[in-house]
Amino acid sequence: MTYVFPPATVPSVPVLGTPERFPVHRIYCVGRNYEDHAKEMGFTGREPPFFFLKPADAIVPVEAGTTSTIPYPSLTKNLHHEIELVVAIGVGGANIQAADAHRHIFGYAVGLDMTRRDLQTDMKKQGRPWCIGKGYDASAPIGPITPAANAGNIAQAGLWLQVNGADRQRSNVGKLIWNIGEIIEHLSAAWELQPGDLIYTGTPEGVAAVVSGDDMVGGVDGLESLTITVA
Ligand code: MN
Repeated sequence: MTYVFPPATVPSVPVLGTPERFPVHRIYCVGRNYEDHAKEMGFTGREPPFFFLKPADAIVPVEAGTTSTIPYPSLTKNLHHEIELVVAIGVGGANIQAADAHRHIFGYAVGLDMTRRDLQTDMKKQGRPWCIGKGYDASAPIGPITPAANAGNIAQAGLWLQVNGADRQRSNVGKLIWNIGEIIEHLSAAWELQPGDLIYTGTPEGVAAVVSGDDMVGGVDGLESLTITVA
């Protein structure tokens, strides 16, 4: 088979401990999955999990021990950081039960769900899709994937983000409203998960703006940290 032009390169993420890379199929994101973040966004309590997607090529993969730069995106005056634990799916499936979810997980990484908050807020008000606020180019920085067996007790890991050396977000994966198994159960009821899917599991409280020149360092205990500069 030939193509009318060369197909796009497969987006991929480095994997710690191997030269092989994780090829990305889709990026799923969970909305409002920490109670104190739901509150800061004007909502209360537990609601069924909901999902949105980013294009696979929105990732900005960061090699271990290095810093990557993201452009300050167009159209926004309010670029927000959202530090998140990312689950990398290695074995696909539909209708996966929470108790079986671990069999489908390849590993974990630290991710940033960067958000053009003003555009997202405007779309929310109009009842329109969030794509322009969430799924824009370079909106999904991600650090190297740590294979699950080497990631420690990720379900109770601290996660944090500093901007220019000062704390912005600090919480614990144990505070997820819907835990990793429950996320995979709900998500795989709606879509058949495939190897290469990434799941951004939601952000804790403390989301705020970054501007050109800001340095972000984010981490989840047990995983390689993520360092990003805003151009
Ligand atoms: Mn998010």
